[in-house]
Amino acid sequence: MASCNPSCCDGNFEEADKAKRCSVLDSCMPLPLPEEVLNEIVAKAKDYALLHGAGMRYRDKYDADTLYFAPFFLLPSAFPRREFNRVIKLQPIVNILMHRIAHDHEFLKNALEKTIQVDSFTARLWNIYTTVREEGIAQEVSLGLVRSDVMLTQCQAGCCQLCQTPPYVTCHQVEVNTIASGFGHMGPISGAIHRYVLGELRKPELLHHLPENDALAGLCGGMISAWEAYKNPKAVIMFLIEDITYNICDQRFHEYEIRRQRPDIHVIRRNLTEIAERGHLTSDKRLIIDGDEVAVIYFRAGYEPGHYHSEKEWDARLSMERSLAIKSPSIQYHLAGTKKVQQEIAGPGVLKKFLSESEAELVGQLFTGLYTLDRTAEGDRAVQMGIENPDRFVLKPQREGGGNNIYGAEIKEVLERLKDSQEREAYILMDRIRPPIQQNYLVRPHQQVSLAEVVSELGIFGVVLGTSSEIFESSYSGHMLRTKLSSVNEGGVAAGLGALDSVFLFD
Ligand code: ADP
Ligand code: MG
Repeated sequence: MASCNPSCCDGNFEEADKAKRCSVLDSCMPLPLPEEVLNEIVAKAKDYALLHGAGMRYRDKYDADTLYFAPFFLLPSAFPRREFNRVIKLQPIVNILMHRIAHDHEFLKNALEKTIQVDSFTARLWNIYTTVREEGIAQEVSLGLVRSDVMLTQCQAGCCQLCQTPPYVTCHQVEVNTIASGFGHMGPISGAIHRYVLGELRKPELLHHLPENDALAGLCGGMISAWEAYKNPKAVIMFLIEDITYNICDQRFHEYEIRRQRPDIHVIRRNLTEIAERGHLTSDKRLIIDGDEVAVIYFRAGYEPGHYHSEKEWDARLSMERSLAIKSPSIQYHLAGTKKVQQEIAGPGVLKKFLSESEAELVGQLFTGLYTLDRTAEGDRAVQMGIENPDRFVLKPQREGGGNNIYGAEIKEVLERLKDSQEREAYILMDRIRPPIQQNYLVRPHQQVSLAEVVSELGIFGVVLGTSSEIFESSYSGHMLRTKLSSVNEGGVAAGLGALDSVFLFD
């Protein structure tokens, strides 16, 4: 398996990227495929996807009775085994880090005090957090179902401890999600599509390159552990959902998995408005809705301002946070996942406050440059860097869910407009990761299949359950791979620019 040959571009990866001369990973088999082979395997793969629940409802043609297959790449994407093993081994430590951050009031306060002056959404979350904190947190146990997203980044040969041998790439973290970390079903099912495809292409000898992926079982196992910790066999698990769920397979399969593991546990689905209208707290803070007591709340909504239509939905969020239900995430976990907190975590010496020296070193290797835009000398320097070299960075507001970040020339425009205003403190600046390119076939409903140049982002799931003083469990719980056209900044699967994928490990 070839990889970037660092000498071919003298380490000038950005220029090489533009010229597409460098940083190419070989695909898992020679491409292109002969046309008749391609047509036949695509038809088979589409059917496999539809018949195994790799489906979505589309935003532009919403119809609750219809599923399309989710866009996917025909072949698994090459990913170096060394890096894959490194990041999955680190995940239990990343979980513990996020758990400890979430429970460190002073750290959260210092990290977010400026952000909440200018970002009204984060400020509302902060107010809920301080309200429940002052009242006394009813439920000490939190369930983290986190997903650490990483991309491969190009190194120069031997430039760091991690790339002494080819391929000269290493993983850098894009973000850690602490709320609504999706694709626990889509991740494993993408691997299943690729096993089937490689089998049908008569390449069984390649199957051992596809790693096991038990994301769905792991995440649902986490919810079941939390349900057990609540200690009421009659109470239910509630999925907090959006008004319309487009990514329905990635939620229903979680329900079916919980049913498979524990037929005695019931799952209900409610949105914020329904909780506001039909839910209530008992005097001892049990959350009751439609006659059911809620043991665990699994958030698949509530992470963006649009989910809160009015004060009513904010009241519902407050009631949930006040309740005895075990939340994934609790409000402090949600805050720990903000972009601002993550930028602060990457600051000098911070990891050592939360992890042992050796753990801090390993986790630190995942970070790329993250810069404060606070109105300080340090922030001024970052503003200047962003204006002078916008292509080297990504500008991020405090939002989740894709499509909010700012890239390229627009970074310069935004920073020039905001540089003298407090509003700049709502953003952080981050080094732009330039992953190596490879080729793959993008398969989308009603569209011609095309061979495209693509880049991938690996999501590593983790489950962590515990209180402020004790962690009961912390584990790696499977993974997912999303791949997008190398020409786009962000590749949302529902937006059609990104698609499901799985990893093909190579040595
Ligand atoms: P969100 O919370 O919206 O998912 P992310 O920080 O994960 O925010 O960014 C969304 C997408 O933008 C990522 O999936 C990735 O494709 C791209 N992206 C984010 N940060 C970087 C970065 N530092 N370098 C390159 N691409 C990035
Ligand atoms: Mg993301």
